[in-house]
Amino acid sequence: MPYSFKCKDAGMNCGFEVKGATSEEEVLSIAKVHAEKAHGLREVPKEVVDAVKRVIKKD
Ligand SMILES: [Zn+2]
Repeated sequence: MPYSFKCKDAGMNCGFEVKGATSEEEVLSIAKVHAEKAHGLREVPKEVVDAVKRVIKKD
């Protein structure tokens, strides 16, 4: 069951996507690295983590 995530679904004006992750945790860890590099978020607030979790898709 691959998990996918689109940054724009979390409300960002951004074309970043995660595809084929094997767990929600994997998506979150990839998204955190991306958030730090691309969006300058050194610490991802809990609201953002929750927003990301809501838009993660299980295919
Ligand atoms: Zn992004």
